[in-house]
Amino acid sequence: MIHDFTYLRPGTLQEALRMLADHADECKIICGGQSLLIVMRQGLVVTDYLIDIKGLRELSYITYDGKEGLRIGATTTHRSIEKSQLLREKYPVLVAIERRLASIQVRNWGTVAGNLAHGDSSGDLAPTLIALDANIRLSSSKGDRAMSLEEFYTGLFETALSKNEMVVEVQVPPVRPRTATAYTKFNLLQNDQGIVGVAATVTVDRRGTCTDARIVLSNAGVTPIRAKNGERILTGKKLSDSLLAEAAETASGDADPVSDIHASETFRRHLVGVLTKRMVRQAWDQAAKLS
Ligand SMILES: Cc1cc2nc3c(=O)[nH]c(=O)nc-3n(C[C@H](O)[C@H](O)[C@H](O)COP(=O)(O)OP(=O)(O)OC[C@H]3O[C@@H](n4cnc5c(N)ncnc54)[C@H](O)[C@@H]3O)c2cc1C
Repeated sequence: MIHDFTYLRPGTLQEALRMLADHADECKIICGGQSLLIVMRQGLVVTDYLIDIKGLRELSYITYDGKEGLRIGATTTHRSIEKSQLLREKYPVLVAIERRLASIQVRNWGTVAGNLAHGDSSGDLAPTLIALDANIRLSSSKGDRAMSLEEFYTGLFETALSKNEMVVEVQVPPVRPRTATAYTKFNLLQNDQGIVGVAATVTVDRRGTCTDARIVLSNAGVTPIRAKNGERILTGKKLSDSLLAEAAETASGDADPVSDIHASETFRRHLVGVLTKRMVRQAWDQAAKLS
C-alpha cells in the first residue's frame, strides 16, 4: 500500500527547484514513475511530497553540436532516444540499447534521468553513457554542478544527488575519431535488466593499435564498474584472440558481483568475460573501419 502524500506539479524548472528547496527532507521527485511507484508500493520509499516533473517540457530535448557534443534533457523518454535520427547517426549504441530496454510501454513513460537517478546497477544506460565518457548536470535553487557519470554512483541505489538537487541534463562529448562503443547484456527475460551487461569503447589508430579503451560493467557490483585493469590490457596492443582472452579474464577479476536468485557470483564473472570479449571485438572492428 502506498502511504498518503501531497502531490505537487511544478510548471517550470525554477518552480520545481523551489519546491525541492522547501521540502528537501520529505519529498521525492517522480517523472515517469516506472521505478519509483514499484518501490513506493513495496513500502521501501515513503514520502510526504511527490514533485511530478513529467510536464517540464523545457527538460525534454536531444541536441548536438560538433564542439560540445550531445545534450539530453532529464525528462527525455527512452522512446525519444530510440526514435532519434540524430542519435542513430551520432551515437548509434544508444539507439541499439533502447531497443532492448524494458517494454515499449515502459520506454514511452520512463525517462533518462529517472533511469540514471534510480541508481540501479543493472540499468543499461549508465554503463553505456560512462563508456561514452558522459557527464551529468545537477541543479538546485542554489545553482548548478556537473560531474562525470562515473562519479555520480556512490553505492547500492545511492548517488551523489543532494536532497535539494535534481538531474537536469546528461552531456556526452563528441565521439573521437576512429572510436566506437558497443553494449550488450545477458538476460533471461527479453527486454529486462541484464544478469550482467558490458559496454566497451575502443579507439584504434591507423596501424590498428588500440590507443584508448573503456570497459564498463552493469550488474557486476553495487554500482556500474569500470574494468580498469581490463582496459589497461588493451591499450597499446593490436587485436588478437589472446589479447581478448587476457582482457576478458582481467575484466572478470575487476567485477565485484554477488550471488542472488538470478545467478551465482561465479556465473556472473564468467559472463563478464564472455561479453567483454564480444563487445571489445565489436567496438574494435567498428572503430577500425572508420576513416
Ligand atoms: C518492467 C520493467 C522493465 C525494465 N527494464 C529495464 C531494462 O531492461 N533496462 C533498464 O535500464 N531499465 C529497465 N527498467 C527501468 C526503467 O528504465 C526505469 O524504470 C525508468 O527509466 C525510470 O524512469 P522514470 O522517469 O519512470 O523514473 P521514476 O520512476 O519517476 O523515478 C525513478 C527514480 O529517479 C528519481 N528521479 C526521477 N527523475 C529525476 C530527476 N530529474 N532528478 C533526480 N531524481 C530523479 C526518482 O525520485 C526515483 O528515485 C525497467 C522497468 C520496468 C518497470
